[in-house]
Amino acid sequence: MYKAADESTAKWSFQIPPAPPAQADIVKEISCEAVVVGAGLGGLSAACRLKELGTDVVLIEKSGSYSGRGGHFGVPDSSLMEQHGVKNDLKELARQWVLMSGNNIDQELLWTFLNRSREAMDWLLPKTVAAGLTPALVDCIYPSAPYREFYGAHSFIPKGNIRGSHVSKSLFEYGSKLGIPMMFHTPATQLIQDSDGRVTGLFAKSPDGIVQINASKAVVLATGDIGGDEEMCRAYAPDALRTQASQYVPAGCNTGDGHKMALWAGGVMAEEVFPIMMHPQHYAWCSLFFLFVNKDGKRFMNEDTYVQGRATSFMRQPDGVCYSIVAGDFADHMEESLKYGGGIFWGNARLKYGAQWTKEQTIASVEKAISDGMAVRADTLEELAGQIEIDRDAFLNTVAQYNACCHAKDDRQFGKRSELLFPIEKGPFTAIKLGTALLEVVGGLSINTKMQVMDENRKPIQGLYAIGDTTGGMYGHEYVTTILGNSHGRALTWGYLAAEDIASRN
Ligand SMILES: Cc1cc2nc3c(=O)[nH]c(=O)nc-3n(C[C@H](O)[C@H](O)[C@H](O)COP(=O)(O)OP(=O)(O)OC[C@H]3O[C@@H](n4cnc5c(N)ncnc54)[C@H](O)[C@@H]3O)c2cc1C
Repeated sequence: MYKAADESTAKWSFQIPPAPPAQADIVKEISCEAVVVGAGLGGLSAACRLKELGTDVVLIEKSGSYSGRGGHFGVPDSSLMEQHGVKNDLKELARQWVLMSGNNIDQELLWTFLNRSREAMDWLLPKTVAAGLTPALVDCIYPSAPYREFYGAHSFIPKGNIRGSHVSKSLFEYGSKLGIPMMFHTPATQLIQDSDGRVTGLFAKSPDGIVQINASKAVVLATGDIGGDEEMCRAYAPDALRTQASQYVPAGCNTGDGHKMALWAGGVMAEEVFPIMMHPQHYAWCSLFFLFVNKDGKRFMNEDTYVQGRATSFMRQPDGVCYSIVAGDFADHMEESLKYGGGIFWGNARLKYGAQWTKEQTIASVEKAISDGMAVRADTLEELAGQIEIDRDAFLNTVAQYNACCHAKDDRQFGKRSELLFPIEKGPFTAIKLGTALLEVVGGLSINTKMQVMDENRKPIQGLYAIGDTTGGMYGHEYVTTILGNSHGRALTWGYLAAEDIASRN
């Protein structure tokens, strides 16, 4: 029996559950032990692990393919890290994570991630190798407090490029070999519950009509985030709507379907305002750390900050646009900056662990911005101002004031560390255009450490699991980069752990 919510208390349209389909409209009924909803990294991990453990599992996906994106897959520990002699102090890492989250997280979930993600990554690694990828560690972290990042970002290199979809592809191929039935173009629409509230299956919309899937053990919601649903963003993540654009693929599939279905079934959210993953990569992908100015020609922040710090400040500027201003001698200062700052967008986001940072790579990333039409260069600052949409006099004044701070080695405007103050004096000068892209809204359903969805009394809804970006509890008001790529690490680990729990039940 479908359990209806009290419609009179609904505030947003997504809070009102749809009527269940008429029996006559159901074209097919399928029975299995577990149905996994969504073929992203989380859903694929859950489905493959379930099948390995002997569970009769079906995977359904809204789009026409598995999905994946990005380049960093972060866990604090793995056999690959051990091979490289890289070891994190987990207790220190956890304190940093909690601090960066403003204490607004579930520390049981955090420690489940810290203690169990190695198992999941070590499970994944051979599957990626079998699919022809080369696992590697990434060496671009922000090494100093208060934004300290730890090692643990893994990348998987297919013939020279780093693309996250290849990792999903390796699990898709593995799952296909295991014989997991996968239904594409088949979005889940509603959960089915029995009279005790236990989730016993779902309805989905296949190309042939409505399908009822009965799952005797579990439904696993792995439908990704809410970033593609404007109303949900207004309700839970209004800042997501202030970014320049979303870079999520498959575009439009991340409409919080799992969040909604669980809400209708009695689930609750882990946080009221969801944390957001944003990167300063809407225009150029290389922001450096010298001088940022907005369209008014004004400096507006301490440039010495990590990826989220940049994205959040850029978003607040007129038209969400700013320029990173770079002098002709910028590359001379990059390497010495790395013991203070760093991380992605400081320069090269794809440096392999153990590889030397080179001037050439840094110069190449700026040249790429120019050839991509995202940066301009001029011999003088006056000419540069003429080439970008900026208030010229304010800009020249800003550079003069900034240079004075650099010469005095004392930034009383925004407090940049003296070691990172280099004047913008030597030409030619480059202006790199920057803006904030929305990647994902990484908050969601309240879950316990078995990945069961919790109700308002903090009791698990039997038969209902959620993983990856459909869940919350791991971040405060923004995505935490204490380990780069930990959102992938979470999707992988939560999928793996949900499978372990489901398979262990009779
Ligand atoms: C451009 C970009 C780059 C990124 N780079 C990184 C990175 O380097 N490191 C990192 O950690 N994170 C990165 N992320 C975030 C990362 O991709 C996600 O956090 C992660 O993939 C979440 O995995 P998931 O399985 O929970 O969800 P998803 O990967 O979003 O998968 C959800 C799947 O569910 C499907 N679906 C949705 N609704 C339904 C429905 N009703 N029925 C059936 N299927 C449904 C979707 O089509 C999708 O295939 C990036 C994100 C973007 C957009």
